Amino acid sequence: MFNIRDTDKGRGVFSLCALEPGEVAVELTGPIITSAAMAEVDQRYCLQIGADTFQAKALIPDAVGDLVNHSCDPNCVVVLDGERVILWVIRSILPGDEVSYDYGLTATPEHTDDTVCLCHSSKCRGVIGHFAALPLEAQEWYTRRGFVPEYVHRGVAQW
Ligand SMILES: [Zn+2]
Repeated sequence: MFNIRDTDKGRGVFSLCALEPGEVAVELTGPIITSAAMAEVDQRYCLQIGADTFQAKALIPDAVGDLVNHSCDPNCVVVLDGERVILWVIRSILPGDEVSYDYGLTATPEHTDDTVCLCHSSKCRGVIGHFAALPLEAQEWYTRRGFVPEYVHRGVAQW
């Protein structure tokens, strides 16, 4: 269902089939850890999924979801479904398209560094950043659809 190949931002995950909005693209599978445990792993590969909870990505070909790259104009979002971390399609994916999601959508400022973005989209912010640094239209678009976790909203003053 997916093809993993090298890109200028490391490995990328490309879909071999068409996926429509509302479908589950793939699940992320790495272990769930707290910030205290992040010292023991490479923090560049930790996705924030709670106020102090992170998914440490398993960077192995079997963990396809964990290899999906960031984009500032993504075709998926992270959806937290109990213990599961799912990539949910928000924009039609055609065969051959790279699968992507916005790493900043679930991130809060205190757990964000200034990682430079290489997504090359016309909406690229330059850095991956965190939710409150997204353009307001994007914040509203994700919020209206219920894609912004509660802990992120608690940290955003204007909400
Ligand atoms: Zn970008």
